[in-house]
Amino acid sequence: MQKNQEFTVTIEDMNEDGAGVGRLEGYIWFIKDTVIGDVVRAKAMKMKKTYGFACLVEVLSPSSFRVKPPCPVARQCGGCQLQAMSYEEQLRFKERKVLNNLLRIGRFSEEEIHMLPIMGMDHPWRYRNKAQFPFGEDKEGRIITGFYAGRTHAIIENEDCLLGVEENRKILEIIKAYMVSEGIRPYNEQTHKGLLRHALIRKGFRTGELMVCLVINGKKLPGSDKLVRMLCEIEGMRSISYSINQEKTNVIMGKETVNLYGPGYITDYIGNVKYQISPLSFYQVNPVQTEKLYGTALEYAELTGDETVWDLYCGIGTISLFLAQKAKKVYGVEIVPQAIEDARRNAALNGIKNAEFFVGKAEEVLPREYESNHIYADVIVVDPPRKGCDKVCLDTILEMSPKKVVYVSCDSATLARDLRYLADGGYRVEKVRCCDMFGGTVHVETVCLLTRIK
Ligand code: SAH
Repeated sequence: MQKNQEFTVTIEDMNEDGAGVGRLEGYIWFIKDTVIGDVVRAKAMKMKKTYGFACLVEVLSPSSFRVKPPCPVARQCGGCQLQAMSYEEQLRFKERKVLNNLLRIGRFSEEEIHMLPIMGMDHPWRYRNKAQFPFGEDKEGRIITGFYAGRTHAIIENEDCLLGVEENRKILEIIKAYMVSEGIRPYNEQTHKGLLRHALIRKGFRTGELMVCLVINGKKLPGSDKLVRMLCEIEGMRSISYSINQEKTNVIMGKETVNLYGPGYITDYIGNVKYQISPLSFYQVNPVQTEKLYGTALEYAELTGDETVWDLYCGIGTISLFLAQKAKKVYGVEIVPQAIEDARRNAALNGIKNAEFFVGKAEEVLPREYESNHIYADVIVVDPPRKGCDKVCLDTILEMSPKKVVYVSCDSATLARDLRYLADGGYRVEKVRCCDMFGGTVHVETVCLLTRIK
């Protein structure tokens, strides 16, 4: 096979990134924008020894799982890798991916893994409560906004991403009209000129409150009264601010926020826990599914009110505060100091007094507290980033020997590795349940219950 040569292949599988996988004479092809079951014509792009990458030329015979992507820019944008697949099949794909990793990387047998049905979304669209739109201009100098095309900084114009809230479009239109009337230019990454870099929009799904924060390459926002007046026409507008970012950087938000309207935050709820969300706060982007995922973690912890619980990698304490309502005491550990500030503030806001938070690495705080203060845990919950738990952290968990470990994971490969380690250390995997927080994409969350055998 030569570069640019075309060939016909059947898509048999999907890889971790959502590309279709086809085999031709033992050689493996990865083909973006295809769906399991498609027969496609593809063009060879890049070839390695045992596998290559091809691009889709034409779908010859569509898979029964293929749907027409509802978003007109699904292919260029690349944010939703699975939009051409029916939602039901997306859910099956995600479950298979987790199970395969548990069997292959975790070396568990199928009998050992009790998978409960994946928790899918009732409405797999418009589920994101947060969006960050970059501003730029097209060849004619017209102001545009949308999303960066996969791995580049070319803006794909799209003011109505179907994962975001309907208000986004209206807000972006107002911002553009305001820019035109005040002669404000969008920021240009090459020349480092122009004022408006990004618009951050957030919505409290339970409260309906809206936040807009403009990120600017300057210290002042001219005519901001006018912007505030225009934005306040939108129902639910509660917080308007700007963030100063004059650095040459890919980091979106600046460090300093200037408040223009409202209290500087919006309020939202996960379960019955209330959160104040400011432009810089971390907050789960799909609160509806977060409630299901963390609700399952809470259910697996089976708390009666007498337990001491550790929540490692606790972020702003969403799980900790959930657990605190049913436990005697909850300790949270998180590396980012601002997240812990939020966690403490949120605990106070909800009158939760039995949660205590530590700033630091889980693999340092836990062993230190165990050795010097002989801490104890009935249940340990972990919700680590993609790279999973540090070995020192897992070793300390095994030494502390809690009755239960609840593992919440956003990467099933590292989950499988860590579950194997805990299983070899004397724990049994009782339950595994996936939760879809990011419909249209390849991402999947999993929550697992492990119990101590000895
Ligand atoms: N449950 C949390 C989100 C967890 S995401 C919430 O609802 O807010 C994983 C978290 O682990 C992130 O907040 C990240 O900052 C933190 N983290 C990453 N490495 C860490 C480490 N070594 N020790 C402790 N926390 C860590």
